[in-house]
Amino acid sequence: MSAITFTIEKRLPKFLGRAGRLETSHGVIETPAFVTVGTKATVKALTIEQIRDAGAEVVLANTYHLYFEPGEKIVKAAGGLGAFMGWNGPTMTDSGGFQAFSLGAAFEKGVGKISKRGISQEEKRSESLIEERSRDISIRPESPLATITEDGVSFKSYKDGSTHLFTPERSIDIQHDIGADIIFAFDECTSPDASEAYQKEALERTNRWAKRSLKRHQELQESERGSTFREIQSRTSGTPQALFGIVQGGRVPEFRRRSATFTSSLPFDGFGIGGSFDKKDIGTAIEWVNEILPEEKPRHLLGIGEPLDLFEAVQNGCDLFDCVTPTRLARNASLYTTQGKINILNAEFRSDLSPVDGTCRCYTCLNYTKAYLAHLFRSKELLSNTLASIHNLTFIISLVKGIRQAILEGTFSKMKEDFEKRYLS
Ligand SMILES: [Zn+2]
Repeated sequence: MSAITFTIEKRLPKFLGRAGRLETSHGVIETPAFVTVGTKATVKALTIEQIRDAGAEVVLANTYHLYFEPGEKIVKAAGGLGAFMGWNGPTMTDSGGFQAFSLGAAFEKGVGKISKRGISQEEKRSESLIEERSRDISIRPESPLATITEDGVSFKSYKDGSTHLFTPERSIDIQHDIGADIIFAFDECTSPDASEAYQKEALERTNRWAKRSLKRHQELQESERGSTFREIQSRTSGTPQALFGIVQGGRVPEFRRRSATFTSSLPFDGFGIGGSFDKKDIGTAIEWVNEILPEEKPRHLLGIGEPLDLFEAVQNGCDLFDCVTPTRLARNASLYTTQGKINILNAEFRSDLSPVDGTCRCYTCLNYTKAYLAHLFRSKELLSNTLASIHNLTFIISLVKGIRQAILEGTFSKMKEDFEKRYLS
């Protein structure tokens, strides 16, 4: 029996987009859905009640960070990720690969720098890392921290310089201990500026790692079969887990198609789409992949969460999206509105007694003014992070829920057009 059930409720005419329901043992995710990022088993500055009130249905945590702190065995002893953080809904973990690379080889190759060709997905994903990194004085970004071999990635801890090895098997073992409902295969993330030859090599390695991730996942599931509940709990966190394969391939259409074809051929429960995208053709790049991926399985676009990108991703067949951007922007005083982003530190907002967005029903907009938020940020008050995060998270989750509703009602194209017009005005 599969750990998840995915049902398509309605398709978008002429496009690959769809609205569906993803059932996990911790509840249903109505798709398309924004996946809230709780990197270290916490959504920065927010309580579980505030996350739930923002409309979140699913939380994604980071394997790499939980491996170092508090360690996967503690999360497992607590009953798994959800129980540990007090969240009773669906959870996900990424494979930890991206961080192992970003803090070493990928960083050396330029991940995290702005690509001349546009804003890359890696850049968005690594921004939060660099943010994490900058808090730790022991980090020396100039030193090579990661080495890639056929076996996996060996890297130095960003905490104390000790050496660690992540292999596909190790990543799956850790993710089984953490016990999220949906976990990801271990892949190599290449820099957006890597050569074509290197991208090809990395792609082939990622394919071999996909098979190894799946094999390890199946072995662990097999050993859980026929065991008593208590025995299963002692080995995993007691949650039936779904494994998503990852489609890579950078900017080269042929590589993306090849990766999608290979990953589709393996019995994964769903798919993650990774790699870097040009901002201007993100929709086309996703379309190449989703034309190939089996329609009946869910698709998660990794690290994308800007409002306009979400419309493109949904239209071209993605069901789930995770991104640190909404909450990271919030902590940096940048707030979403239906008229585009605003920086609350701008002088004009000091005396603005209207809510951040008049159409938003979040706790912040219902109770506070722009002037109050501007004051909190200028005074460097802790509450600024909480109120701003509540707003941005509610905004982005509500937007995706609205997109879902528009697909169901047959008004997607009109909604997209109206939103773009206002947001870019
Ligand atoms: Zn609001």
